[in-house]
Amino acid sequence: MYEGQCHCGNVKLRVQQLTATGTQCTCSICARYAAIWGYFTEADVVVSIGEFGISCYCHGDKLINFNRCQQCGCVTHYTHTTPTPKTRLAVNYRMFPSEVLEQITVRTFDGAKTWQYLD
Ligand SMILES: [Zn+2]
Repeated sequence: MYEGQCHCGNVKLRVQQLTATGTQCTCSICARYAAIWGYFTEADVVVSIGEFGISCYCHGDKLINFNRCQQCGCVTHYTHTTPTPKTRLAVNYRMFPSEVLEQITVRTFDGAKTWQYLD
């Protein structure tokens, strides 16, 4: 069991196991967030949202909600705008302890231009 949380602890993310890799993407939104995404499905992640709630940012084709804590502003995860147990839920590994980041290989995805991994 691995747990991450936003800075204030209002949003918590729990996964049973880690993905082998995390992705930092160069697209216009991911580059600004500086997120390292771990790709799971809705069924794989327990998301706990506390009293302060979350807010979402959705742009472009409107398929993804970027979710952030309404209190501390950390971008914790993204979800499909019409989620099912099988749709992608990406956790932001930046919310996890540094020991977790040391266990995964971070890859760079060129979402800005070529739409390919750069390694
Ligand atoms: Zn927070």
